[in-house]
Amino acid sequence: MLIESAKKTLKDIFGYSDFRPLQGKVIDAVLQGEDCLVLMPTGGGKSICFQIPALTLDGVAIVVSPLIALMKDQVEALKVNGVEAEFINSTLNEEEQAAIIKKAVKGDIKMLYVSPEKMNSESFYYTLLQLNISLIAIDEAHCISSWGHDFRPDYKRLGYLKKQFKDIPIMALTATADPLTQKDILVQLNITGANVFKDSFSRPNIYLEARPAYKRKEVILDFIQQRGRESGIVYCLSKKNTEDLSRYLKANGISSGFYHAGMNSDVRDRIQNDFINDRIKVVCATIAFGMGIDKSNVRWVIHHNLPKNLEGYYQEIGRSGRDGMAAHALLFYGQQDYSILESFNEESERKVILNARLERMLLFAQSNHCRRRLLLNYFGEWTVDNCGQCDNCRGRQNLINGTVMAQKALSAVARLSGKLPKSILPQVLAGLRSPDVLAGGFHKIKTFGAGKELSLVDWENVINQLIGLGYLKVDYEQGTILALTPLSNKVLFEREEVMLHHLHQKIQREPKIEIKKPKPAVSIPREEGLFERLRQLRRKMAVEMGVPPYILFSD
Ligand code: ADP
Ligand code: MG
Ligand code: ZN
Repeated sequence: MLIESAKKTLKDIFGYSDFRPLQGKVIDAVLQGEDCLVLMPTGGGKSICFQIPALTLDGVAIVVSPLIALMKDQVEALKVNGVEAEFINSTLNEEEQAAIIKKAVKGDIKMLYVSPEKMNSESFYYTLLQLNISLIAIDEAHCISSWGHDFRPDYKRLGYLKKQFKDIPIMALTATADPLTQKDILVQLNITGANVFKDSFSRPNIYLEARPAYKRKEVILDFIQQRGRESGIVYCLSKKNTEDLSRYLKANGISSGFYHAGMNSDVRDRIQNDFINDRIKVVCATIAFGMGIDKSNVRWVIHHNLPKNLEGYYQEIGRSGRDGMAAHALLFYGQQDYSILESFNEESERKVILNARLERMLLFAQSNHCRRRLLLNYFGEWTVDNCGQCDNCRGRQNLINGTVMAQKALSAVARLSGKLPKSILPQVLAGLRSPDVLAGGFHKIKTFGAGKELSLVDWENVINQLIGLGYLKVDYEQGTILALTPLSNKVLFEREEVMLHHLHQKIQREPKIEIKKPKPAVSIPREEGLFERLRQLRRKMAVEMGVPPYILFSD
């Protein structure tokens, strides 16, 4: 019944004839009073998921939204469509706020947008107690998780809502949350029993590409010049990078600006507006530039440096191609960035997990497998399909049949479910009696030494590929404990083929781009892959343990 009236509202107010498939399910659940976590890519239509129930149910819906500018836009758009919507945040003076609260208490508002700071104020808490609240929607819900890169301390306190308003449905909505962040959102909001609705994270219009960090400035300039008047964002690791790169682009005739948290907010707003209104074409920015960029025609995103993790990477590339038209995401990666980012984690008590996510980011960058497949498996969308469109799908892949290796690795995990750390599995398979293996009693299991034909380093490589492709998963919350996935059974019991990269191929690929302007000859720095680094570590370890290196690796 309610859903019928919801459909009519969709038509009458928004002019759409039907819900998108997931929207219908979410709205159904909310109308029945259930809590929900909604994961939909940018542009997927999250707003409708709370706006329609807000208009269908009795009372006022509270919408928590982190960005003042976005709040204002949404409320204005709703008002134009005849919806009684208002917002409360620090841009309104006390009288204005009091007037809106009065209206809300009287029941004359259907949707009240509130900033997270306001939600946490004591006076507003008493206001909430006086309202007839239909639902509470928390937009950009990943801001609540300190795992996310947009963490807002004010979000963290919203956990009181469920405790205080037990019967009011809470909706958390976000476009980016890996499994670790998803779980954290539910825990922080005290809605662990919520329905989780997941749309595919796939954004097929974004072309994915990664290159070694070699002659970055020149390659970026060439990339932009080839794209005429298209707008794009270059994400850099440091404030200085953003300034230097922007200057270089400007000196070469590109209309560019820079943006980072060290600038005062007037200047930042000006750059953002210039970009949104196409007065400048390129912004070189740190990750501070982001959430408010509701610009549909960003045609490309470049990562000048390796991002901290795939969640951040996905969020940032997602700012391109919102209009559904073709967009390009180019990622540069190098050992140096990896080391810098690793050193940032040094002091953290969550170092192990942060580094594990960082390593996953580097492995993604260095991989020869389909990038979309790697990305979707990272987000827990188990798939074996190659997209056929990314740089790796288009380029040479040099794969081998790794089914037997995969079976050995997966059976060891199956036997030791919930107990096997990622670093131990290669040692178990290679039959290495290291102190950690002995201490954990791992040498007693049946699969110990089942893969002696490969070296430790090769097994590390195989296992990293199996994780990337979703045949194994890492429970990052537990450190780096391995577990099977929905894809594992097919390999273990249905003999599904697993194709892996060749184990000894060089990770480095020559930069594919030709730089047109003649440049003085530069010697190409050797790009040392993670595996090369691991190889060196092994060598050192062998020396320290006083064993011949071939015991630890075969080359
Ligand atoms: P998100 O918050 O998930 O990024 P929005 O809620 O801003 O996405 O919606 C993205 C676009 O999709 C908007 O232009 C919206 O009007 C449109 N949209 C949402 N739901 C529908 C629908 N059922 N039918 C047609 N268009 C829709
Ligand atoms: Mg939105
Ligand atoms: Zn692909």
